[in-house]
Amino acid sequence: MRPESISLKQRRELVIRWSDGQEMRYSAGLLRRECPCAHCLERKQAPAEPLPVLQPQEAAPVEITGVQPVGNYAYNICFSDGHTTGIYTLEYLRRLGRQEPPPG
Ligand SMILES: [Zn+2]
Repeated sequence: MRPESISLKQRRELVIRWSDGQEMRYSAGLLRRECPCAHCLERKQAPAEPLPVLQPQEAAPVEITGVQPVGNYAYNICFSDGHTTGIYTLEYLRRLGRQEPPPG
């Protein structure tokens, strides 16, 4: 399965149209939360810290600042909080897209 088109809606939402005709939408928040990089996975698995304090850049709504293809199997997505190490494979994006309610 391949993306036929990929676009950003005002940096808040990524829209991918797949080769099977399905259109999937990904909010910036979802992509940031589900970032598959080693750093984020480690952070998710770590026990929650008591009374975490939000940094100002974490409290602001996150935006997508860039999407770069990686080879022909993945995209590197950059966020407004400065995070740029997430590599989202096409397979992972398909899986993530199915977690969102279908459009319309
Ligand atoms: Zn990450």
